[in-house]
Amino acid sequence: MKRYKRVLVWFRNDLRIHDHEALCVALERSEEIVPVYCFDPRFFVDTEIGVPRTAPFRSQFLLASVFDLQMQIQAKGGNLYMTDGLPEEVIPELALKYNVEHVFFSEEITFEEKQVENALEQNLWKAGIKTASFWQSTLFHLEDLPFPVAHTPEVFTKFRKECEKFVDVRPSFPEPIAIPVPSAVFDESFQMPEWLKVEAIVDERCAIRFQGGEVAGKKRVQEYIWNRDRLKNYKDTRNGLLGEDYSSKFSPWLALGCISPRYIYEEVKAYEDKRVKNQSTYWLIFELIWRDYFKFIAKKHGAKIFQLEGIKSKSEKWNRDRDLFDKWASGLTGIPFIDANMRELNTTGFMSNRGRQLVASFLVNDLGLDWRWGALYFESLLVDYDVCSNWCNWLYVAGVGNDPRENRYFNIPNQAQRYDGEGAYIRHWIEELQEVKGFAAHHPFLLPKSEQQKLGIGDKYPYPIKDLSW
Ligand SMILES: Cc1cc2nc3c(=O)[nH]c(=O)nc-3n(C[C@H](O)[C@H](O)[C@H](O)COP(=O)(O)OP(=O)(O)OC[C@H]3O[C@@H](n4cnc5c(N)ncnc54)[C@H](O)[C@@H]3O)c2cc1C
Repeated sequence: MKRYKRVLVWFRNDLRIHDHEALCVALERSEEIVPVYCFDPRFFVDTEIGVPRTAPFRSQFLLASVFDLQMQIQAKGGNLYMTDGLPEEVIPELALKYNVEHVFFSEEITFEEKQVENALEQNLWKAGIKTASFWQSTLFHLEDLPFPVAHTPEVFTKFRKECEKFVDVRPSFPEPIAIPVPSAVFDESFQMPEWLKVEAIVDERCAIRFQGGEVAGKKRVQEYIWNRDRLKNYKDTRNGLLGEDYSSKFSPWLALGCISPRYIYEEVKAYEDKRVKNQSTYWLIFELIWRDYFKFIAKKHGAKIFQLEGIKSKSEKWNRDRDLFDKWASGLTGIPFIDANMRELNTTGFMSNRGRQLVASFLVNDLGLDWRWGALYFESLLVDYDVCSNWCNWLYVAGVGNDPRENRYFNIPNQAQRYDGEGAYIRHWIEELQEVKGFAAHHPFLLPKSEQQKLGIGDKYPYPIKDLSW
C-alpha cells in the first residue's frame, strides 16, 4: 500500500539503481519519488597542503557516475534532479518545492558527512518533513554484526572470523521496474558550476581507463570475473603493478556506490558455482571484508581517524618539511620505486595496493612526515577515494591505527626485488630511466659514474633523498 504521495531520495555515495534499499523502499511506499543529487562545493576546495580536495580524475569520474545514474533513472521512466550547493539547505528547499512528505538517504559514516546529515535532519524537522536513513555501503549489514559497532574488534582477523561465522550477507535488492517522478522534475536543467568543469587528460600508460557509472562498473565486473576469467587467479596476481587485470580495479565504482559489494559477492558466488571455487575466489571476498572493516572501525572511532594521534592516541614526532613532501608528491625522491608509483598516481589517479603501501610507508617511516599530508594528497588524487579506506589504511601504515604490529615498515629494496625484479615498472613510468636495463633501474645511483653522467643522474633524475642501503 502506498502511504505517501512523494518521497525525496537523496543520492550520495550510492550512485546506482541496483541493490538500493532506500530507492526500493521509497518506491514501495510512495506514488512518486524525487531523486536528487547535489554536488557539494565543500568537497572541491583547496586543502592545507595546497591541492584541491577533489582533483580532476575524481571529479570526472564522479560527474560521469552521476550522469550515468540519470540515464539509469530515465530508462525507468524517471529523471534525476541534479543541483549544487549545501545539501542540508538545498534538499529542504526541494522537499518543500515538491511537497514531499519524507526524505530518504544512505547513512554515511564519517565526521563531515554526519554533520551534513544532522543539519539536514534538523532543517527538515523544522519544516515538518521526516527523514529515514539506510545502511547500504557494506557487505555485512550494520544490524547483523555479531557485536555492537562500538565493540568492533581492534584486530581484523577477529572481526573477519566472527562475521564469517555469524553473519549471512543479505541478498541484494533488485533493480526497480519503474521510477515514477513528478512531471516538473523533467523541466529542471542543471547549470554546471565552474568548479566542476574540469578535464583530466588520459595518459596512454594507465593500467585501465576508468569510466564512471553503474553501467561501466557492471561491465568491469563482467569482464574481469567472467569474460577474461581472472578471478580464479586473483590471489596470485593481486600484488602486481602493471596492466588491467592483476587486480579487480573495482574500487572506484565501489567508492561511489556505482556497484554494491553485495552485487560483487553474488557474482563471486555464481562464479564459484559455475566455474571454480578456490583460494582466489575467496580472497576477493576477503578484501571486501577489509573494506567493511575500515567502515566499522571508522564508525566506532569517529573523528579520531583524522587526528594525528589516531585511534591509539599515540603521540609521536612528525615533521612538516614541505620540501621533502613536495619531492615525495611529485615523484622526485630519487628512489625509482617510490617515484614510479607517485607518477602513476599523478598521471592517472590510480595506484596499486602494493604501491600505496610502499609510498605511504616511505613517507611515514623513512621521511617521518605528518601522515595526514599523505592521506590528504591521496584524497585529492585517488579516483577510488573512499574516506574510510583511505584514512584507516593511512592510520594503519602510520602505526596509529588498529594494527597489532607497532611498526609497519616496508623495506623498499626488498620490495623492489620481490615485486619488480626486472625493473619493468620503473621503465614504464620514469622516462629518465628508460635506458637502464634490468634491476639496475631501481638504483641508477649505483651505476658507474660514466653511465650516471650519460643518464643525467643528479641532473635530469635526482639522487636519492634518503639512503636505503641497496
Ligand atoms: C595508504 C592506502 C590508501 C588507500 N586508499 C584507498 C581508498 O581511498 N579507496 C579504496 O577503495 N582503497 C584504498 N586503499 C586500499 C587498496 O589499495 C585499494 O582498494 C585497491 O588497491 C584498489 O584496487 P582494486 O580494486 O584492483 O583492488 P582488489 O585487490 O581487486 O580488491 C578488491 C576490493 O577490495 C577492497 N580492498 C582491497 N584492499 C583493501 C584495503 N587495504 N582496504 C580497504 N579495502 C580494500 C577494495 O574495495 C577493492 O576494490 C588504500 C590502501 C592504502 C595502503
